[in-house]
Amino acid sequence: MREKNAAIVLAAGRGKRMNSTVHKQYLLLQGKPVLYYSLKTFEECPFIDEVVLVTGEGEISYCQKEIVEKFGFSKVCAVVPGGKERYHSVYEGLKALKEPDYVYIHDGARPFVDQEMLIRARKTVLESQACVVGMPVKDTIKISDGEQNAVETPDRSKVWMVQTPQVFSYPLIYRAYKKLIDGNIQNVTDDAMVLELMEQRQVKLVEGSYQNIKITTPEDLLIAECFCQNS
Ligand code: C5P
Repeated sequence: MREKNAAIVLAAGRGKRMNSTVHKQYLLLQGKPVLYYSLKTFEECPFIDEVVLVTGEGEISYCQKEIVEKFGFSKVCAVVPGGKERYHSVYEGLKALKEPDYVYIHDGARPFVDQEMLIRARKTVLESQACVVGMPVKDTIKISDGEQNAVETPDRSKVWMVQTPQVFSYPLIYRAYKKLIDGNIQNVTDDAMVLELMEQRQVKLVEGSYQNIKITTPEDLLIAECFCQNS
């Protein structure tokens, strides 16, 4: 029998950088909410058993009716309220799961996660217990001193931009998140970082795609429309 896999799809962000009254994961892409696309990919993935959707407190019934029921996402077993920061929302999602073997944590604002990426991530997590999808950067990256002075240039061939899904052994990531929340540790921007900080665990990098963008600012939506038209 194969392992039990769950996904957490995060949609509780406010989307301040979008300059829109509608949160980024609900903006329409080819006539459907951005959030629809990743939920569809998880729904169609044969090795994902259940999905927890994390939304804003006031958006639970909208998501349940207008997204989960409307599009028939039968793997969504719970729609739960998130928290102030992304890591609070992830923790709420982790608590809502019924102890799967592995969990695929995904930003609902990334509509272009695809089946091949999920297959690559599954292979890696079964071997290594922790992996994140990402891509090598195309631009040279500078580290600043916080005041617009460049102080360091990391070797570009070793720098990756990290995306989601980020995939982990459930007991491992749950333990790391519990320590983080109990210890009131802040300024955490992705799940791999929680594992690095709390468990000193190595996390594998898996090839994602350059299309797997996060819809963050208005120009991202234009780019996303282009990707949809070309697919
Ligand atoms: O804010 P950021 O762009 O890092 O958000 C990434 C993802 O995390 C988005 O899908 C957003 O909805 C989600 N998020 C969340 N709860 C928060 C902040 C962000 O679920 N408090």
